[in-house]
Amino acid sequence: MIRCISPIDGSVYAERPVLSAEDAHSAVARLQAAQKGWAARPLAERIALVLEGVANVGAMNDEIVPELAHQMGRPIRYGGEFGGFNERAQYMAEIAQGALADIEIEDSDRFRRVIKRVPHGVVLVVAPWNYPYMTAINTVAPALIAGNTVMLKHASQTPVVGERMAQAFHAAGIPEDVFANVCLDHQTTSALIAAKSFGFVNFTGSVGGGQAIEKAAAGTFTGVGLELGGKDPGYVCDDADLDAAADTLIDGAMYNSGQCCCGIERIYVAEQHFDAFVEKAVAIVEGYRLGNPLDPETTIGPMAHKRFADEVRAQTAEAIAAGAKAHIATFDTDDGGAYLTPQILTNVTHDMRVMRDESFGPVVCVMPVKDDAEAIALMNDSSFGLTASVWTKDTARAEAIADQIDTGTVFMNRADYLDPALCWTGCKDTGRGGGLSIIGYHNLTRPKSYHLKKA
Ligand code: NAP
Repeated sequence: MIRCISPIDGSVYAERPVLSAEDAHSAVARLQAAQKGWAARPLAERIALVLEGVANVGAMNDEIVPELAHQMGRPIRYGGEFGGFNERAQYMAEIAQGALADIEIEDSDRFRRVIKRVPHGVVLVVAPWNYPYMTAINTVAPALIAGNTVMLKHASQTPVVGERMAQAFHAAGIPEDVFANVCLDHQTTSALIAAKSFGFVNFTGSVGGGQAIEKAAAGTFTGVGLELGGKDPGYVCDDADLDAAADTLIDGAMYNSGQCCCGIERIYVAEQHFDAFVEKAVAIVEGYRLGNPLDPETTIGPMAHKRFADEVRAQTAEAIAAGAKAHIATFDTDDGGAYLTPQILTNVTHDMRVMRDESFGPVVCVMPVKDDAEAIALMNDSSFGLTASVWTKDTARAEAIADQIDTGTVFMNRADYLDPALCWTGCKDTGRGGGLSIIGYHNLTRPKSYHLKKA
């Protein structure tokens, strides 16, 4: 059984049996058998079916919003994920024709030479609970549009999300053997990968999980996309708009109780603005209301599980013991469990775990820097590389800084947004994913060359 313990009150919200190894292999076989027929359907038909499935998810949003609160603690006031879910699917549908088009080299009297893009076969999508709809759709929509069949294994914390997506896509007319939501344990997931069940595996989650998937795939030549953790920095330059920087970076650090892969965890501020920035940041966080996510007044909910909050508490306590200063007094609603006071730390160093390990929670550290060179060195002093956010009025300066940061995405004057036209990717321990954009399609298909001599 997998068990979703609600962070609201620790009760069991959902329990589901995992598939036996035998049933899991049968499910793969059905997806494999259906794939050629699905890929043979016209692209326009696949796109229409996927978009209808997406619209069906939107039609269920009133039920989905409280379900998310129950499963992973996101306050209902934020209205769910349909905005980003829909935006990404629509964009991937829009570019499909061009992204999947044949590359024509020659079509003369003598030769036809062309590179086509063909689907991998069955794509396994392993999704996390923190943005359970948006992370899943990044791969599910383009994989189906490209002619793959898809097995979705959702997180144990958010089992209802996979069920909702299956319900919506099947109601749209996508066959059950083309898109299947399954409950799998880790061992069976690895066994399926090792048995060459899939043409491609997209895994979004922790570094340890990504390593386990890569090990399972070793020697099978299965393509693997790994979208893993981050420790994303923000840099507030001396010419930045301080109010805008504080608003966006603190929101980027605390939204979703800090449980964003591209959440801001480290902020470097030009030293002359350091005190003013910290003062603004503290005022923002002191205005949050930590509480039951079903209460419309709540702006910050519990973390998805007590064990995640325990890790953030441990990192914070270690840092304070080593000399860090905590700026936020414990909230009344902090229960020592999943409900955790959002925290801002200063007097931190890169020797502290809170500046090195992913916190994935509502704590952010702020450090002064004397110039761009120091900021760049500190931003790069991390084993992760997902996003970085630079705050300046000077685009050329931002781009010059961006060129020197080892990361997947650089933002200027914004943070924490996935632009579906750009590749969602990372470097270092953030893995080697490449989702969304035209590159997402290239990763979900393989090139196939046709060299046809006519006479
Ligand atoms: P996690 O424990 O790795 O779980 C993520 C998903 O992977 C879940 O479906 C989980 O299944 C599954 N999983 C984990 N280990 C597995 C294994 N050995 N075999 C098969 N499946 C496995 O990650 P998390 O802590 O829930 O999620 C937070 C992490 O995800 C953070 O590190 C965050 O930065 C990262 N993340 C990255 C991105 C990105 O785009 N780069 C986006 C979102 C989140 P169970 O739930 O059943 O264990």
